[in-house]
Amino acid sequence: MANEITSKTSLVALFGDPVEHSISPQIQNQAFKTLQLPLVYLAFRVSKEELPQAVAGAWAMGFMGFNVTIPHKQAMLSLVDELAPSARILGAVNTVRREGKKLIGYNTDGEGFTRAMQEELGITPEGKRFLLLGAGGAARAVALTLAQQGAERIIVANRTVERAQSLAQDIAAIGGDVTAISLEGLPRWTETAQVIINTSPVGMYPNVDQEPLLPEELIHQDHVVCDLIYNPRSTRLLVQAAKKGARTMDGLGMLLWQGALACEIWTGKLPPIAPLEAAASRALAEK
Ligand code: NAP
Repeated sequence: MANEITSKTSLVALFGDPVEHSISPQIQNQAFKTLQLPLVYLAFRVSKEELPQAVAGAWAMGFMGFNVTIPHKQAMLSLVDELAPSARILGAVNTVRREGKKLIGYNTDGEGFTRAMQEELGITPEGKRFLLLGAGGAARAVALTLAQQGAERIIVANRTVERAQSLAQDIAAIGGDVTAISLEGLPRWTETAQVIINTSPVGMYPNVDQEPLLPEELIHQDHVVCDLIYNPRSTRLLVQAAKKGARTMDGLGMLLWQGALACEIWTGKLPPIAPLEAAASRALAEK
């Protein structure tokens, strides 16, 4: 529980479908507690059809803001009054803040990844070459943010190559240097990359023994290997990469930073990461 609940407590919410798996309530309530703010964060299962009513209800009841997750990130674009550059560039909203008479849509997903990479590994995107495994929603947020923050080159490898090509078009449209390949192209292209990021769910609980998309023999000690999966934190891909002497980063940092940045958008205060990590680890251990 965050602080004592009184009639002055404001609500912040998560709207998604499903939401039962989410550990955002534990992360955000820890943030509010650490910052000693009179706020409570609750997750609500909201269907696609009922999103407009949920947004109207949040407005009527004076919520300070809310997060949206799958399947609402695109639909939310047309339900806010204004879009911050982050949401406009990613074509998706994950954070909404009430500002006076307006709802403003933001997106902290991509910056969540780049902040985690900077804090945990000391790496910024500028001038670096990245290889992304997967081309879904998470890949899109990460790749567009990397391009926007000055990545030298982005290679998108996907099982369905048309989806990689479609993401590549969007990256090129904001000025990124990008190559779309199939998974069969990995032996040729992996050497080019400095940072490899698994954005697919391959290796996620309960399928922890699934063969990673990147064959182990293609990883070398100069690579940095990241996985967006945070359950488990130590995926088979990261274990293989560490065995090869590569530096690694798991997906929890991205989750924590996207949450911390959302908290900053609502409250103007960036929470410290360590208590959020402890709360998230407790929540994951209970799953
Ligand atoms: P998504 O939109 O469904 O995209 C999944 C991607 O993975 C697609 O490119 C898909 O390829 C590929 N893929 C799935 N199963 C595959 C398989 N068996 N073999 C080869 N490719 C496969 O999912 P998403 O929303 O991007 O999420 C992806 C992962 O990121 C999940 O594990 C999620 O938990 C994680 N994530 C983490 C964070 C964080 O904060 N750390 C945030 C968001 C997401 P096709 O196009 O060929 O289907």
